[in-house]
Amino acid sequence: MSHEPPAFDLVIRHGRLLTMSAADATFDDGFLGVRDGRIAAVGKDSEQPAYTAAREIDATGCAVLPGMINAHSHLAMAQFRGIADDVTLEEFVSRLTTEEAKVLTRDAVRRGVASASAESILAGTTAALDMYWFDEETAAAAAPYGLRIVTGPTFAGFANPDPRSFAETLRDAEVRLAAHPPGATAAPVLMPHSTYALTRHQLQEVAALARRYACRVHVHASESPKEVADVRQAHGASPIQVLEQTGLLGPGTVVAHAVVLDDADIETLAATGTSVAHCPWSNLKLACGVAPVGELLAAGVTVALGTDSAASSNGLDLWSAVKLAATLHKGVSGDPRLITARQAVELATVHGAKALGLDGEIGTLETGKRATLQVVDLTRPHFAGCQDVWSALTYSARPSDVRDVVVDGVERVRAGALVSPQ
Ligand SMILES: [Zn+2]
Repeated sequence: MSHEPPAFDLVIRHGRLLTMSAADATFDDGFLGVRDGRIAAVGKDSEQPAYTAAREIDATGCAVLPGMINAHSHLAMAQFRGIADDVTLEEFVSRLTTEEAKVLTRDAVRRGVASASAESILAGTTAALDMYWFDEETAAAAAPYGLRIVTGPTFAGFANPDPRSFAETLRDAEVRLAAHPPGATAAPVLMPHSTYALTRHQLQEVAALARRYACRVHVHASESPKEVADVRQAHGASPIQVLEQTGLLGPGTVVAHAVVLDDADIETLAATGTSVAHCPWSNLKLACGVAPVGELLAAGVTVALGTDSAASSNGLDLWSAVKLAATLHKGVSGDPRLITARQAVELATVHGAKALGLDGEIGTLETGKRATLQVVDLTRPHFAGCQDVWSALTYSARPSDVRDVVVDGVERVRAGALVSPQ
């Protein structure tokens, strides 16, 4: 029997390899071998037996870590960046919906998503849970950049660019869901906009459809004190309790924002296994407040990070969310131990994958998972003196430090530039 040396399509060598696995494996002089888009070997470079490789990335002086996961985005809204800065959430929504009514077409969605995808992948973001109109256009427009999109139809009672009625959207959603086996990761995610945009009955109908097809749900909730007060008046309960009562919470649900929560809301999120997409930049800029992330994590809630739209956060990189997650909660709690540098990177990777139901595929660098990762150049002057890789990534790194990005084994960013869209 002959023993051929293993053959890899791509190897990434010599970087500080941060697998982010539960076993916490890191390798100073790392080796990661890719075959057929998946990770075939992980370890120390010096311990690799003989192999052949079609291509090699030398990551000397770099950190190699999973691609980041944006757990709440509206990518197409990149075209509305700067349209409503320094105004209240209500004024923001009003300016935005006016502009959307004027310009939003399927073509405009495709263009917005294309530029947002370039921006995201260049900053090391490799997947996004995206909520927006004409969602079928989003995945198609992002695909040439390698950005993995998890999305589906949005349901909202307010005036919006989708000409379909609620009932029509629900019917179309069922047709799309029926094309996938129950629970499939590629199935559309149902996106009831919020508890203020739909009636209780409509929320129940969306929940029933989600249950029937075991599909995932993404919803905005408890973003601002005014929203919570309005929902209490309209529905007689907090947004989180309305979601629970209408059957929308569960391990397949990601709630965006979750800023204004009481103890019962936190308990409900934990008890139902619901994930939260924390969007610190957007929440601060719209003066909504600060989500109780320390308490959510202590209660066992999976907290991932999101950018929200480029209209509210003006940037689609998760690096600023990582830095804010590790600093903001220290500032408001008075406890500098809250959310460590390493934990903040975990929120953007491991927790993001879990929130999207993709933790079997991405979020850590382990054998068998998809080879979806970023190489971050730590040799630049603003890292000088830093001996701790987590500190470097969380407190000092900038989106432009992302040197290379690989998605499912395909190089998408090389030396800080897009590899031409395929
Ligand atoms: Zn949003």
